[in-house]
Amino acid sequence: MEVMGWGRYPKTTAELIQPADSQALQKFVSSQKKSASCIGRGSGRSYGDSALSEQLVSSRFLDNFLELDEQQQTLRCGSGVTLGDILKVCIPRSLFLPVLPGTKAVSVGGAIAADVHGKNHHLDGSFCAHVKQISIVLASGELMSCSEQENVELFRATCGGMGLTGVIVEACLSLASIPSSYINQKSVVARNLKECFEHIEENADSKYSVAWLDCLATGKNLGRSVLYLGDHAAAKNRKTDTMYRERSGLGVPFSTPSFLLNKTTMSVFNSSYFALQKRKKSSATLSCDDYFFPLDGIANWNRLYGSNGFLQYQFVMPSESAFEGITSVLEKASENGKGSFLTVLKKFGEANENLLSFPESGYTLTLDFKNEAALFALLEELDRIVLAHDGRLYLAKDARMSEEVFKASYPNWERFMAIKKKYDPDNCFTSLQSNRLGLTP
Ligand SMILES: Cc1cc2nc3c(=O)[nH]c(=O)nc-3n(C[C@H](O)[C@H](O)[C@H](O)COP(=O)(O)OP(=O)(O)OC[C@H]3O[C@@H](n4cnc5c(N)ncnc54)[C@H](O)[C@@H]3O)c2cc1C
Repeated sequence: MEVMGWGRYPKTTAELIQPADSQALQKFVSSQKKSASCIGRGSGRSYGDSALSEQLVSSRFLDNFLELDEQQQTLRCGSGVTLGDILKVCIPRSLFLPVLPGTKAVSVGGAIAADVHGKNHHLDGSFCAHVKQISIVLASGELMSCSEQENVELFRATCGGMGLTGVIVEACLSLASIPSSYINQKSVVARNLKECFEHIEENADSKYSVAWLDCLATGKNLGRSVLYLGDHAAAKNRKTDTMYRERSGLGVPFSTPSFLLNKTTMSVFNSSYFALQKRKKSSATLSCDDYFFPLDGIANWNRLYGSNGFLQYQFVMPSESAFEGITSVLEKASENGKGSFLTVLKKFGEANENLLSFPESGYTLTLDFKNEAALFALLEELDRIVLAHDGRLYLAKDARMSEEVFKASYPNWERFMAIKKKYDPDNCFTSLQSNRLGLTP
């Protein structure tokens, strides 16, 4: 069957394996020939080729809730359970996931494998900081448990390890308590990038923080933006405050002709959105879905970029170099006439000890680019800017980074390789991405 990531680039053909439980998965892995390669697959919300291989081992049927301990605030569940499923169960009990990415469709396995971050990384770290234990099927077919106390090196390589150590079947997660399911949002407009950085720093004690940037604004307006701050709203009415209201949205039924997305339409969109946000009230109370997952309101929005798909480019730079580096990236993209609907800036807190996790203390910028011929040369130029500012690219979004750029920016790749070799000596678990990055042959 034809398969792809959320960016719809690249596309490949693969066999889909859907084990019904961990025993079936163990049996499949043990019977694999030495030359065969497979990779775990969750909801397919990574953008590039990290979940593409000859055989995709889906966690779709590993979707059971095993134990919810409300006193200890922990949940044990299968790796195919989505974050949205968890919210449905937890919010009515005043419990919440401590870290949420921008879509609730992500599976627990995918959230661990990419060690995903949310709008609160500056305070709460990434998803795996709240993972107490993982059960994983290794290349030998053995089911192994790992955590910060047990098989620690396997844990450090699996959290953020993009599925390359084995297939995660279950995990135990810590939950947070919340007063209500609503978020009090405050928006702060910045006239340029300097002001945006200042607003982010001044509001660093806000639980959630994310800025949308008009990526085609230039000169004195470069980096003009709206910063969205959020905190959990206090409870007013216990009965309704912890009800989970799922939003149902419209869908994009087919791929939009890609010529509709050009510098002019992007520029009109960016400046109109900025003007609209400037006029809007600066505070509002939003439902969980509206605050955390605005894009989930439009099903299949990835089709808007046309049949060739799009590439999301996300990098992090340390605080010292981020202002200068992000200015250069925005200038370069704008100079090349490459606009992005969604240009998002977030502050990151300290890095953790996971070997391939993306976040490090500083700032992360995300841009979406329509896939077209001239794009790849531009992205190579952006890579050079990112490296020159001691940054790195996010593997969950990547579809084209070179081995050289990866190895120059992920300092623990050799330690990761040594652990992979120990648990997967014949490279049973490989992806198109791991081959491209020189992590597997
Ligand atoms: C609209 C949108 C917004 C997003 N916002 C954010 C964000 O704010 N922050 C952020 O960090 N990310 C964000 N992402 C990216 C997304 O969170 C990650 O790519 C995540 O890994 C996707 O999970 P998935 O279940 O779809 O996994 P897939 O895309 O299927 O796989 C991703 C990786 O996880 C591995 N994997 C999946 N399941 C397993 C398993 N059971 N065992 C072992 N390995 C496995 C795969 O091999 C692959 O390497 C966003 C994506 C979208 C589409």
